[in-house]
Amino acid sequence: MDLPKAAKAWTPAQTWRCPLILGETRVHVYFTLYHEGLTLPDHNLSRRSLFTTAATAGAAAAFLPNAELTAAEPPDVDFSKLSPAESLVKLMEGNKRFVAGEIRAPRRDIERLREVAPTQKPFAAILGCADSRVPVEIVFDQGFGDLFVTRIAGNVASTENIASLEFGTEVLGAKVIMVLGHTNCGAVVATASARAVPGQISALYQLIRPAIRSAKGDVVKAIYENVKLQVQTLSEASPVLAERIAKGQLVMAGGVFDLKTGIVHPVEIPGVKA
Ligand SMILES: [Zn+2]
Repeated sequence: MDLPKAAKAWTPAQTWRCPLILGETRVHVYFTLYHEGLTLPDHNLSRRSLFTTAATAGAAAAFLPNAELTAAEPPDVDFSKLSPAESLVKLMEGNKRFVAGEIRAPRRDIERLREVAPTQKPFAAILGCADSRVPVEIVFDQGFGDLFVTRIAGNVASTENIASLEFGTEVLGAKVIMVLGHTNCGAVVATASARAVPGQISALYQLIRPAIRSAKGDVVKAIYENVKLQVQTLSEASPVLAERIAKGQLVMAGGVFDLKTGIVHPVEIPGVKA
């Protein structure tokens, strides 16, 4: 939130969430208690100065609503009832909120965690890159229990990742699988350069090389080609996923996350209807 200028030096001490029911919508209003100048330098404060600081802070304490109204879905909403197409729309709408700076950070509190602790029904599954700049729940503005995520450098459909995604869809019921690449992906860049790397890192190369060939060495293009390739691998190499796609229970999608803008650009997959 933006604090008034005079309060810029204040620091948040504690936040309370107050649920309000407005019609059929549950709204959370957050109140934050701010203390002025409560940042204590270290342990060198005398008892007297500490007392003075505390008294000042107490006098200056105030409630400032942080103007963050969260138009949350009703508490009992069941995303597993969404169709595959609706699930994909829900996923992409979350990214639009993130890009617009209108994040809701939904279903991220301890209450939601307790709710999903006994069982989970994620509405989407993601095959993403292990890159630290692509945290999937943040990119798509989702919370606990929403996304079944498997991440690996280069977002490649290795045998183990296919098995995980089969579990996320066949057993848990996710209706969409998105392969999420990203700009400036180190795994794709390294594969394109074909430089020697230590240990087992090069094991990833064999899964990315066809995309490099298809893009004729153009790394930017290869990132998109790699997403297409991995979607095709998932669609064709897994009888479990292929059957769900054929029955209309699952939709495959591809996206490239732009590290500079935060936008997930959809990737058209030949022969795959989104
Ligand atoms: Zn990457």
